[in-house]
Amino acid sequence: MHLLYFHVIVLPTACIPPMEDCPLCAHEDQELRYPDDPWITDEIQARFPDWRPEQGLCGTCLKEFENPFRP
Ligand SMILES: [Zn+2]
Repeated sequence: MHLLYFHVIVLPTACIPPMEDCPLCAHEDQELRYPDDPWITDEIQARFPDWRPEQGLCGTCLKEFENPFRP
């Protein structure tokens, strides 16, 4: 069964996210966030023009760009 074989190979690695470096602060973070909110991504790119949303960022950095006064 082709489909069954695919699941056996893919699932174990998908459950263990690789350690990734935050591209903004270079801290290793296992849970990089990938914000899809244009308001937040614009804020990040204003300070880090080379950053792209698909690169992600760590939760600590994301907090810096989240505006608590945002409606
Ligand atoms: Zn970071």
